[in-house]
Amino acid sequence: MESCLERKISDAELEELKINAIDWALAHGIGMRPSVDDSDQDKLVHAPFTLFPTPVPQYIIQQATQSMAYFNRLMHRVAMDHQFLVESFKSVIQTDDFTRNLWNIYMKVHDDEKAQKLCLGLFRNDFMLDKVKESNDGRKFEIKQIEFNSIASSFGGLTAELIPLHRYVLDLVGQNYTDKQVPDNRPIEGLAGGLVRAWELYDNKHAVVLFVVGVNEMNIMDQRFLDYEIYKQNKQIKVIRKTFNDLLKYGKLNEDRKYIISEDEVGVVYYRAGYSPTSYNEKIWQVRLELEQGSCIKCPPINYQLVGAKKIQQILAEPGVLDRFIKDPVVFDMIKSTFAGQYSLDIGKEGDKNLKMAVKSPNNYVLKPQREGGGHNMYDDELVEFLKQHENSAERAGYILMEKIRPQTQTNYLIKAGTPLVKSKCISELGIYGCYIGNEKEELYNTVCGHLLRTKTADTNEGGVCAGFSGIDSPFII
Ligand code: ADP
Ligand code: MG
Ligand code: MG
Repeated sequence: MESCLERKISDAELEELKINAIDWALAHGIGMRPSVDDSDQDKLVHAPFTLFPTPVPQYIIQQATQSMAYFNRLMHRVAMDHQFLVESFKSVIQTDDFTRNLWNIYMKVHDDEKAQKLCLGLFRNDFMLDKVKESNDGRKFEIKQIEFNSIASSFGGLTAELIPLHRYVLDLVGQNYTDKQVPDNRPIEGLAGGLVRAWELYDNKHAVVLFVVGVNEMNIMDQRFLDYEIYKQNKQIKVIRKTFNDLLKYGKLNEDRKYIISEDEVGVVYYRAGYSPTSYNEKIWQVRLELEQGSCIKCPPINYQLVGAKKIQQILAEPGVLDRFIKDPVVFDMIKSTFAGQYSLDIGKEGDKNLKMAVKSPNNYVLKPQREGGGHNMYDDELVEFLKQHENSAERAGYILMEKIRPQTQTNYLIKAGTPLVKSKCISELGIYGCYIGNEKEELYNTVCGHLLRTKTADTNEGGVCAGFSGIDSPFII
């Protein structure tokens, strides 16, 4: 799995390819705002992407895709299990303000009969390829889950546009391939499909779909592709984009529990903001509560956001826990086999032991807080320093330890706006999109909608395209 190319490419050819690829990207909306400054809101630069697609074995895509409908269902079941959530968040909410604020909203709405009971999830389950220790069937790699995203799962729009770009680049260099090797992949069709289905279930043709967005979003094209796909699927649906501050000014929950913005009744809320403490202040938490209390269908509702926490992932990996949610032994094995080693840092003997283990060989672990969006984890010296400082502090319970996965490196070129082209050893993360609608009793919708490959240089610990660490990529099936 070196690279997808059969021949060497000269430096001059590479520079020309880079320009061709960038122009294609800009011509097809593979773009982002250069910054959140007001003065940049009429500008676009290309999103970071790889020059070539990255080789991925067919069985890996298959395994990850096949498991997704079961992951969707699993996370829904976890989100419905009040007792389990109470137990799981007990220690974290004592130390982590952000999770406690989410939790307080959850406690206010979980048995509120007037709040909407249908849940909508647009999920992305992220994996890395680990080397198989022993293989009977010649397979060299297996998928290990990095994390399950239950809020603002992004890049379903941009990734679809990257396939034709990668085919174009391969054609320019005269590489032989079939379209099946760089397969079509349009996650937004399924993601928009979920939002449209939820809107239909809300059953009011005049209701709008509300995108809750950040101020001056940089990842605007990705969001717009989803918006336009909804429009393509059903022209009756009006999508409106508002920040939390807009909602504070113009939104209200009426006595019938309808959420109204100016004159519009909101049928479906889709959060592309709200996963980070910086989105909130006391008044904004109140706005979030009102949305949760409303009859509008949320993506995600607060319980779905909570189950995306790293703490839940760590607890699900503990012996005997997955059994509570999955009885079918085949599905159980399929899901369990993707779990990497994960360790609690709760105060107590077990947590003490785990802490010592990580301090002793920090290079084998990743330290994760209950955060989203990239850039929050700790590694190596920073991990050691943090753990030593917090050895006797309850704060450590807000973090989990995860075994570090070391995927095989592959050669590629990351194209980032304003940076020179460098041949790099890269590693990739494969995300699978899923969409789910259900309530306590029923599963109404459960689909798998495609994939995302993100690639970064092998010397980068963190991930995340928006956070500036990686680029979008597409698989070259081998
Ligand atoms: P976030 O919700 O902030 O994206 P992640 O758990 O996905 O948090 O971690 C961010 C990045 O850190 C990942 O995209 C990946 O590159 C790296 N990472 C996370 N966990 C591991 C792990 N167990 N092994 C190797 N790298 C990891
Ligand atoms: Mg995440
Ligand atoms: Mg992530």
